[in-house]
Amino acid sequence: MSILKTEYKEPTRPYSQKELQSIQNKLYKDLYLSNVEARHQNCGHKYLVKKNGRKEKDILENISLNPDKYIIDNSDVGNCSVCWKLNKTPNKYKDKATNIIYWYNRINNDNYLSYFDINVENIYYKWLYDNNDKNNNDKNNNDKNNNDKNNNDKNNDEL
Ligand SMILES: [Zn+2]
Repeated sequence: MSILKTEYKEPTRPYSQKELQSIQNKLYKDLYLSNVEARHQNCGHKYLVKKNGRKEKDILENISLNPDKYIIDNSDVGNCSVCWKLNKTPNKYKDKATNIIYWYNRINNDNYLSYFDINVENIYYKWLYDNNDKNNNDKNNNDKNNNDKNNNDKNNDEL
């Protein structure tokens, strides 16, 4: 099931800033989000990158190489993960994904958290970083098995 199928529900009780903050912290922690933000000028997408990921490394490197450039230029490194993910998103969810991106980009970083913003942020990042690691692992295992099999065949030939 896609995270994009989640319907927004108005909160049934008030949430304190502290509570919202802890929901946000949990998201960042669970998804290993860095405090480094990628911003792509061509498409206008922005997102926190993964901690210790390739993109974080590239952006930090770019900042240290071009310290005079604005941070927004320095953070425009490589391909946009949001564009990539949007491209991979099944057609039936594309509208929802586009909506979430729209709302995410409207979030003000003025330190005041709203329940709605936290909701948007959760869906945005769970969608963006919902990776198919499991499938990739299966694929790697299959490749490995095939290699083993080939090696066995080769060994058998030699015998
Ligand atoms: Zn983009």
